[in-house]
Amino acid sequence: MPHDGHDPSDPPDDLTLRVQALESLLVEKGLVDPAALDVVIETYEHKVGPQNGAKVVARAWVNPEFMAAIKEDCSAIIDQEFGYKGRQGEHIMALENTPDIHNVVVCTLCSCYPWTVLGLPPVWYKSAPYRSRVVQDPRSVLAEFGTTVADVKEIRVWDSTSEMRYLVIPERPAGTEGWSEDKLRALVTRNSMIGVEEAKLPETIL
Ligand code: FE
Repeated sequence: MPHDGHDPSDPPDDLTLRVQALESLLVEKGLVDPAALDVVIETYEHKVGPQNGAKVVARAWVNPEFMAAIKEDCSAIIDQEFGYKGRQGEHIMALENTPDIHNVVVCTLCSCYPWTVLGLPPVWYKSAPYRSRVVQDPRSVLAEFGTTVADVKEIRVWDSTSEMRYLVIPERPAGTEGWSEDKLRALVTRNSMIGVEEAKLPETIL
């Protein structure tokens, strides 16, 4: 039995068939080079992932000037410092979590996501319940992720679009004074950069 319970002899689902039909048509018309398409998929599946965003967060934690700069113009700075370029020219905005504000990101319409810094979106990010509920009741949704946001904090929910994507800069955990960027990176998870969780505590990686 395959691990995911999917029988390989089942016909592909409707979406898969439509994507395959579209790809065949584009290739046939000479609009898409199948090799180029494979490179794009390979890149986002294996090379670009949350490790990119973690580098940005760790640098922001140790370098206040860098933090100020990415809050001003994140897209330009991460391209300049790390060579991270937007896929279709969309802008990335950095949102700093503070003792007063907790930021969380959604795309209420579909699944807009900062691929450049986080790779491919998790399945739950694209689910209808997350997309609608996080807007109406962010505190409860965060609680389901195991994240308790203090009542004194304001929760800001940001709706991504094709023009604007968001990267949450979680709060730097206490007890990490003097840590190097490399070491700090290990505390920065994908979910903390979407804003549904906090960064890991130092004792969890020691
Ligand atoms: Fe979207």
